Amino acid sequence: MKVLKIDLSKYRYEIEDRKDLFEEWIGGTGVAVQLLKEEMDLRADPLSEENVIVFAIGPFTPAYPLASKTVAMFKSPLTGNLGESHAGGRTATAIANAGYGAIIIKGKSKKPVYIVVHNDKVYFRDARVIWGIADSLIVGRIIAENEKGRGIRTVMRIGGGGSNLVRYACVTTETYRHFGRLGLGAVFGSKNLKALVVVGRGSRKIPNRHKYKEIYEKILKLALESDAMKKYHLLGTAVNVNPLNELGALPTKNLKATKFEKAEEISGEALAEHNLGRRIACSHCPIACIHIAALRIPYETEPYFYKTIMISYDYEPIYALGSMLGIGSRDGLLKLIHKVEVYGLDAMSTGVCLAWATEALERGLITENETLVKLSFGDVDGYLRAIDYIVKQPNEFYKVLAQGVEKASEVYGGKEFALAFGKNEMPGYHVGHATHIGYLIGLRHSHLDNAGYSLDQKLKEIPPPHEVVDKLVKEEAWRQVLSSLVVCFFARGVYKPEIVAEAFKALGYETSPEELKMKGEKIYREKLKLKIKMGFDPDSLRLPKRIFETECFQGRLSEEYIREALRYWKEKYVLPLV
Ligand code: SF4
Repeated sequence: MKVLKIDLSKYRYEIEDRKDLFEEWIGGTGVAVQLLKEEMDLRADPLSEENVIVFAIGPFTPAYPLASKTVAMFKSPLTGNLGESHAGGRTATAIANAGYGAIIIKGKSKKPVYIVVHNDKVYFRDARVIWGIADSLIVGRIIAENEKGRGIRTVMRIGGGGSNLVRYACVTTETYRHFGRLGLGAVFGSKNLKALVVVGRGSRKIPNRHKYKEIYEKILKLALESDAMKKYHLLGTAVNVNPLNELGALPTKNLKATKFEKAEEISGEALAEHNLGRRIACSHCPIACIHIAALRIPYETEPYFYKTIMISYDYEPIYALGSMLGIGSRDGLLKLIHKVEVYGLDAMSTGVCLAWATEALERGLITENETLVKLSFGDVDGYLRAIDYIVKQPNEFYKVLAQGVEKASEVYGGKEFALAFGKNEMPGYHVGHATHIGYLIGLRHSHLDNAGYSLDQKLKEIPPPHEVVDKLVKEEAWRQVLSSLVVCFFARGVYKPEIVAEAFKALGYETSPEELKMKGEKIYREKLKLKIKMGFDPDSLRLPKRIFETECFQGRLSEEYIREALRYWKEKYVLPLV
């Protein structure tokens, strides 16, 4: 597998054969950890020229269905340590067809540029005229008009969020998919990089075509019969709104409650019935979980004239910009999701920051002198204006809020209701102890690291804290294999160790389920070591009081239980690596 290294400071690039790395570390996350260790001063400021971005794909792309994701790894400007974000769309197949297993971006351009990769050629295009365009959709459209490769290219770009260094800005790819979490958009912005376009026209030789066809069909059949297919094709991830609300696990109004009286209005069922325009899929995915709503906006001056905006929705933006902000109107919710999409912001971080600001305003910690607009739960217009301000940062308050809720609560108070874990804003689950332990010890502080929210729903009774930690770490270790392959987590029920080993065999590599599991554990340890070297301190993990005040599916949570879990995790998993 080849690695493309691009140096923005020198406008140069080189291509290296790194078969060694992919053989040892599979691809994706496993390889990205090693490349960052090789290429980066790990103590560097995340917004400095020294930060390095690695995009990595795995050995199953584009060979097998649902191997549709790309891993981005970097130092996060939001948390100050490991940044890792996964996106679908067309990015993974474009990188694979261009002939690479990974693309590294180093340095900083003197002027705004966007990069175009056409197989083994790299072009640095002047982006001064598009740098100031805040709408990431327009940026994508302009670049698409000017570059070749329609239908096979990926256009990864930033909007105003990334250009203005909002620390939770995302990178948008193919309009509806995102490297959403932990601020990759701000890292692009700090490098004067507006976009990365990749066009690939290569193909791949399969050594054992007969075996390959057999396992391909098996995987496809399993995917078509999987839970994800049934659950997510019809309603998308928005299917989770009603069940979580019924469980009493849907964070509502800055987690003052876990049941939202208007949940039904913004549920997957209601969106599908009233707003669904179409469904689309990432490349090479038969599930097609991406749901796109059509929102009709009337022209103010002309009767019967409308513009129709297509807006992708998922569970997480519905939680963060819906229930968390008390928004119960579908049109209002879609307008907020669209606003965040336009600027290229992480919806979860934005929603949690605004929810904190609303409560801080209610409690008098800040005033409208700071917020410049009245923020109250349920008021769409106030939030739409506040999102503009987060991007434009017209005063000190918004400069701070653009750094995340952890920073904002350090400066203005209200830490007890600032819902960040490891400085990353909270995902949309308040299910039980494992949920929050999962956010805290997960190496990305994401619900996807170890799915604690799912473990809580399966537990018949609450086990001792160390058992929960061991289960979460075991899950996270196996997920390192999936993130190295890099398959969509919705296919985790398909890509079991036995199937993965069989799929490798058809591509000419011998491995076993046991060897794969051991590799997952090894990658987990390597990633944790990298996180520590980047500055992570387990003693700095903060527990927001709010999670102990608001009852959830498991009832009232015990602070001592979670603290005991953290002590155990530190001793068993962190200290041996320091
Ligand atoms: S299941 Fe959804 S997110 Fe996963 S690859 Fe398919 S379309 Fe993309």
